[in-house]
Amino acid sequence: MRVIERPSPNQDERPEGVTPDLLVLHYTGMRTAAEALERLCDPNAKVSAHYTIDEDGTVYAHVPEARRAWHAGVSFWAGVSNVNACSIGIELVNPGHEFGYRSFPDAQIEALIDLVADIRRRQPIAAHRIVGHSDVAPARKRDPGELFPWEQLADFGIGLWPGTPTRHLRGPVDDALALFGYGTPPFVDWPLETTIEAFQRRFRPQAVTGMWDHECGRLLEGLLARLSPELSLSTRG
Ligand SMILES: [Zn+2]
Repeated sequence: MRVIERPSPNQDERPEGVTPDLLVLHYTGMRTAAEALERLCDPNAKVSAHYTIDEDGTVYAHVPEARRAWHAGVSFWAGVSNVNACSIGIELVNPGHEFGYRSFPDAQIEALIDLVADIRRRQPIAAHRIVGHSDVAPARKRDPGELFPWEQLADFGIGLWPGTPTRHLRGPVDDALALFGYGTPPFVDWPLETTIEAFQRRFRPQAVTGMWDHECGRLLEGLLARLSPELSLSTRG
């Protein structure tokens, strides 16, 4: 894995005693890699990430992992707001929905797998704590989007993919989504439909409707079965 240092001034200290245990994946959403790298290192932009991976697999390092990069903005995951404090951010070069969204090339995905393995030698990041920007900021963000190969990456411990459900969810949908980590009202200021869209974008990208249905229920049951059998039990109402 080739890593090029491309330092960004857009960083500060993590809060005292906080070790990153969450990883947020993004796309750059700009026309070119050069444009994205420039913005991530521009002091006026006030945004950054720890790493950017170009489509050819080249990795750029912007911010040391021990420090806070400014990638997620207003966000929520697993009971915690503003996840920059506890997370590592990785940008994948892709024009995104605005400028010609396209598949992520194999070289880029292979570099991501290597980079995450490398980060895990230093940071305790569990598979279920690797999420998309749209998972933590669903009202504002769609990245990395419907073309991101979550299912393939789950084989490498990057994010969870639903297994065979072991139990039926009997409790309310919002409680079950929150068990997996999603923000739901009243703990966030976006509606439940927005959270459902984020869930669908990631786990059923062929039908992002914002409406909960039976298939979504089975997928979430399958996810909670992977996460922890005890968790899905506790949703029985
Ligand atoms: Zn993003």
